[in-house]
Amino acid sequence: MIKRIAVLTSGGDAPGMNAAIRAVVRAARSYDLEVYGIHEGYRGLVEGGDNYEAMTRKSVTNIISRGGTILGSARLPEFPEPAVRDKGIQQLKDHGVDALVVIGGDGTYTGAKRLYDHGVRVVGLPGTIDNDIAYTDYTIGFDTCVNTVVEAIDKLRDTCESHHRCAVVEVMGRYCGDIARAAGLATGAEFVVTNTQNNDLQTILDQTKKFKEQGKRHPIIIVTEHLFDVTELARQIEEYSGMETRATILGHVQRGGTPSSYDRILASRLGLAAVEALMEGQSGVCLGIQSNKIVATPFEKVIGQSKNLFTEYEDIIKLLS
Ligand code: ADP
Repeated sequence: MIKRIAVLTSGGDAPGMNAAIRAVVRAARSYDLEVYGIHEGYRGLVEGGDNYEAMTRKSVTNIISRGGTILGSARLPEFPEPAVRDKGIQQLKDHGVDALVVIGGDGTYTGAKRLYDHGVRVVGLPGTIDNDIAYTDYTIGFDTCVNTVVEAIDKLRDTCESHHRCAVVEVMGRYCGDIARAAGLATGAEFVVTNTQNNDLQTILDQTKKFKEQGKRHPIIIVTEHLFDVTELARQIEEYSGMETRATILGHVQRGGTPSSYDRILASRLGLAAVEALMEGQSGVCLGIQSNKIVATPFEKVIGQSKNLFTEYEDIIKLLS
């Protein structure tokens, strides 16, 4: 029987993390469990002290609509070190925490698996805008991020149209092209460059030249981060195609903002499911959503797996551009 659980957010923040925290806290209280919020991710877990905050239903009032995470999300590169990890396990014991919910991405899951391997009961929730977690169709934050990107690209389209300019837009995604694919389809972009498609310089240059020949005067090219220096790419496109071209790096605005209703609903369902999973004795798993059903998958199957769910969008974008 567990009596007290704790929840933390870790890694890159994502809109909807607060809705997940709220769901964990409220679900725990509804089931008469005590609940701590651990501030600053694994750093707070290891350092203890004020980072452990006893939470009530009231602690999470009015956070469902807020971006970011009220618990903060620090990185702790030393967490893999056994001595640091053991200190964290001791802190959990000292605070009477029987089980833990972690909300984050692949790195967060890796840390959670280490804890699990050393006897900590833990369940993970996918909180990352990148949608790069396997065994879940969506991660918390992805939908909001795509909406933010779409809004920004719509605005860029207006100015590119006025000036007959080609736009090269870098979006986040770490090593997953789902943000580029979804935003590309939703904005009617001419071309997306992802880890699975069009990531060869000559292909991009030839395609932009073709756009020019076809009379397209303001094509939008969306590029997943880490593939190109987009400023340099824009320069090369301009030189090769003769089309005036500008690069825009959307950067961290993609991680902020009010979570979409989809992310709030997903986070709420997953938060509740995490508490129920721990009460049923599940551990060492992360939860996700597949075909609108909550599923649990062991950490070891999920960690380090690449995922590209929306590759078929690339062909649709091509046919519709
Ligand atoms: P994300 O969870 O978004 O992938 P990070 O990769 O930054 O973000 O990971 C978040 C935190 O998880 C790190 O700061 C570290 O504390 C912990 N972590 C990451 N990788 C490992 C690892 N190999 N072993 C233990 N802990 C890890």
